[in-house]
Amino acid sequence: MNEATAEEEIDVALIGAGIMSTTLGAFLKELQPHLKLEILEQLPGEAQESSGAWNNAGTGHAANCELNYTPMGADGSIDIARALEVNVEFDMSLQFWSYLVKKGAIPSPNEFIQPVPHMSFVIGEDNQAFLKKRHAAMSSHHCYHGQEYSEDHAKIAEWTPLIMEGRDPHQKVAATRTLNGTLSLIHI
Ligand SMILES: Cc1cc2nc3c(=O)[nH]c(=O)nc-3n(C[C@H](O)[C@H](O)[C@H](O)COP(=O)(O)OP(=O)(O)OC[C@H]3O[C@@H](n4cnc5c(N)ncnc54)[C@H](O)[C@@H]3O)c2cc1C
Repeated sequence: MNEATAEEEIDVALIGAGIMSTTLGAFLKELQPHLKLEILEQLPGEAQESSGAWNNAGTGHAANCELNYTPMGADGSIDIARALEVNVEFDMSLQFWSYLVKKGAIPSPNEFIQPVPHMSFVIGEDNQAFLKKRHAAMSSHHCYHGQEYSEDHAKIAEWTPLIMEGRDPHQKVAATRTLNGTLSLIHI
């Protein structure tokens, strides 16, 4: 970020130096390298608000585990349309970052994105039934191919030992696990 002066002419002003402005700036530079961009940030540095790694949950948002994206309709069916939309959007981000890695613009991708399994965990019979149906709907689509489902305490304990430690062995629980989830650590 440069200090803009009143005399300088710019083509595009991007307000805020979070992930959105920097991604848009990178797109614009790819498509029209001659553009003069200015990123204006009110804080002393970049990515200090929502994009800062300590201020968000950090999952690469592919809608693997967020139950709110797959509501159950009045007829009991699970609608995965919103999850698919989010999944495809995140896949495009992955493609864009892969391109930037190939170009050398992201020299150490492992410093900013890591593979991390994404899990959903529920308690109770109704929630178990919901998760089971959700898993059936999602795993039959190629975007969620390979997503695992279990109601077995021992299996879920393998996936998440701390969540299962000391739990009533008769409690109805269920979990899904998606191995190809990601964790983003954004330090722009
Ligand atoms: C608690 C929480 C958990 C989240 N978890 C996830 C997650 O697990 N996975 C996921 O994918 N996403 C998650 N998100 C969402 C993700 O963090 C945001 O969508 C993303 O960081 C937004 O980027 P941004 O660039 O729009 O905003 P920001 O990173 O907030 O950037 C906006 C910037 O604009 C600056 N600014 C604002 N107004 C002005 C102004 N007038 N002049 C100059 N500068 C200005 C701000 O200082 C800031 O630096 C989470 C968000 C939150 C808050």
